[in-house]
Amino acid sequence: MESNRNLGRDVIIMNLEEQLGIITERDHGKKISDCSDRELYYSILSLVKTLLGVSIPISGEKKVYYISMEFLIGKLLSNNLINLGIYDKLSEILEKNGKSIAAVEEAEPEPSLGNGGLGRLAACFLDSIATLGLPGDGIGLNYHFGLFKQVFKNNAQTAEKNDWIEENSWLTKTPVSFKIKYADFEVTSKMYDIDVIGYENGVNKLHLFDVETLDEGLVKKGIDFDKKAIAKNLTLFLYPDDSDKDGNLLRIYQEYFMCANAARLILKDMKDKKYELTELSKHAAVQINDTHPTLVIPELIRIMVEEEHFGMDEAIKEVTATCAYTNHTILAEALETWPMDYLEEVVPHLVPYIKELDKRAKAKYDDPKVAIIDEADRVHMAHIDIHYGHSINGVAAIHTDILKETELNCFYRIYPEKFNNKTNGITFRRWLISCNHELSDFLCRTIGDGYTKNADDLEKLLEFKDNDKVLESIESIKKIKKQQFADFVKEKEGIELNVDSIFDIQSKRLHEYKRQQMNALYIIHKYLEIKSGKKPVRPITFIFGAKAAPAYVIAQDIIHLILCLQELIDKDPEVNPYIKVLMVENYNVTYAEKMIPACDVSEQISLASKEASGTGNMKFMLNGAVTLGTADGANVEIAELVGKDNIFEFGLKSDTVIAHYKNADYVSMDYYKNRPVIKEAVDFITCMQMLKIGDVVKLTRLKSELMNKDWFMTLIDLEDYIRVKDETFAAYEDRDRWVRMMLVNIAKAGFFSSDRTIRQYNEDIWHL
Ligand SMILES: *Cc1c(COP(=O)(O)O)cnc(C)c1O
Repeated sequence: MESNRNLGRDVIIMNLEEQLGIITERDHGKKISDCSDRELYYSILSLVKTLLGVSIPISGEKKVYYISMEFLIGKLLSNNLINLGIYDKLSEILEKNGKSIAAVEEAEPEPSLGNGGLGRLAACFLDSIATLGLPGDGIGLNYHFGLFKQVFKNNAQTAEKNDWIEENSWLTKTPVSFKIKYADFEVTSKMYDIDVIGYENGVNKLHLFDVETLDEGLVKKGIDFDKKAIAKNLTLFLYPDDSDKDGNLLRIYQEYFMCANAARLILKDMKDKKYELTELSKHAAVQINDTHPTLVIPELIRIMVEEEHFGMDEAIKEVTATCAYTNHTILAEALETWPMDYLEEVVPHLVPYIKELDKRAKAKYDDPKVAIIDEADRVHMAHIDIHYGHSINGVAAIHTDILKETELNCFYRIYPEKFNNKTNGITFRRWLISCNHELSDFLCRTIGDGYTKNADDLEKLLEFKDNDKVLESIESIKKIKKQQFADFVKEKEGIELNVDSIFDIQSKRLHEYKRQQMNALYIIHKYLEIKSGKKPVRPITFIFGAKAAPAYVIAQDIIHLILCLQELIDKDPEVNPYIKVLMVENYNVTYAEKMIPACDVSEQISLASKEASGTGNMKFMLNGAVTLGTADGANVEIAELVGKDNIFEFGLKSDTVIAHYKNADYVSMDYYKNRPVIKEAVDFITCMQMLKIGDVVKLTRLKSELMNKDWFMTLIDLEDYIRVKDETFAAYEDRDRWVRMMLVNIAKAGFFSSDRTIRQYNEDIWHL
């Protein structure tokens, strides 16, 4: 069987051009050279699907199910071609026919199934699980309009539905379907699969559940819809606005839908393979990505007790041995709790099980901080995971330490053996080979191609630290990537970028803790310096990419501030030769893939202790950017790896920040009043020129927030940020030093391969 499959595959690959020609004739009645880019995209999609039909599924005695509300997978065409080992060959075939693979890639819509880092991590993990040849599937939801599409109007963000699913796509409808029960109705699920192709390895699946009764017509204007019509709206959007009760309930409907389907699928796999359910944990590992999939725990227990004749003790024991939880944040607002009433309203059949789990936890531990149901009758999802999972991991060393010592200390004292760290990683297939083939080809020529499978091999580059030719190549590749990005921006936004300027980039979700507002205050500071005659030696381009949650008011205001600065500076001939601001519209994976290779300075400036890990920081480093950052998340590990000379660090340390919160002694007004540089920059937000361009309500609200609250301590770190950022730009002028820093960053990025992360998950948690 296997050799037959391999043979089928090899035959197709050997005759790739002929095979593609057959498909273009069949589907479009045209030769390759006569097809449009869109037609070629569909034809190659079809070709890859044929190839996958004869590829080997990864199998084994035990499989991991990675359950996540988000999979920010990005476009799949190039990555699939790379992982199948036919990218170069196909690229040549297209070229021979007067076509370009890059143009064909443009025709693919980007799946919109995630918000940011958490969803992108899930996507990188699936790639690495398959690449390592481990049996492991993703389980999530098939949102039709996914995360909203960001459109700027009047220097502000507006949200539109993101219609990404096409008739012909990577999704394959399967016959798998389950009945999912809610309080007073039932929905029928339908499972769609996306193939996950390992790099020169077999194939796993991403299972995305959907409802057949969905009604896309429910969405009338922007992203508004009837939140009560569950059977029609369940999989319309990712994370609908949850600022009201109906939004919150819909979120629980979605979470239960995902978990109930996951439980059914896992049990179906067990039965199909004729495994005894008493041996669940021998054959299945469930990884719970943040707390959103928590309900899989009580749901599995419920089914085992009600349908499979398990005793409660036995079911709990087996499920606990199967499930493991990943914590992604210590932000208080992100630790999910649900009022018991809501759960009663949506999933009353789970409530007795949640109460039983709570009763058992309370009988053993009388500390109210570790209760599942608190005095206000709210259910703490993370507490279910920690008591009834066998592992809890943080996502960077500093983050896991903070969990153990502070946030989850009461749990750590009960279950020290459950806590472990798994520093995040990124797949080098997407974030190097695919998005920067100039650099990856150069690396292959210089240190061999071993690093594509064994990322630590990148360290071999250190031997070339004083090799002028190598340094020149690294510098010229950066220039090429800056030019390509500038061309892309020109086409997409109609804006010219100066590729001789420094590209300083902050791209990530918009959140106060990530402190885009601090970056904006630096820009104001520079603007004022230029106005007073102090000009930068080299022009600087400040680039942002960020979406803000539609209900997050201050985040919207920060976007407004940045867009107003962009306009103000563009229109000021005294300033625009020296600095430029660009906030790109609808930042997504596709944008990230173009932007990251073009970056000189990577802005990683979250308030220390608040960014659990970050993965953007790793992508930038791998592509030769130098980090300007706080001692937060994985920045700490980046600094340890590259050494103090190859990173620019500033700001308070996490223990100081934690102490400020504990003592509640940070008063932003003191900084505003006593530091002229800070006052000047903050006041500028509502100066005459700004009010001419912007909205008085938004700008005033933001200024007041910074002066009177500033929960994420922007003003404490601002002066140090200005100092070190100036130092960073000065260092850029010492070209020898800078390019050497780039080289060291690339060479030391191997640790951040998600292949390493997944090996660790497997060794310590899954044991596949
Ligand atoms: C990597 C990535 C993120 C995460 O960025 P952080 O800086 O780690 O928050 C968010 N969005 C996209 C599109 C990404 O590719």
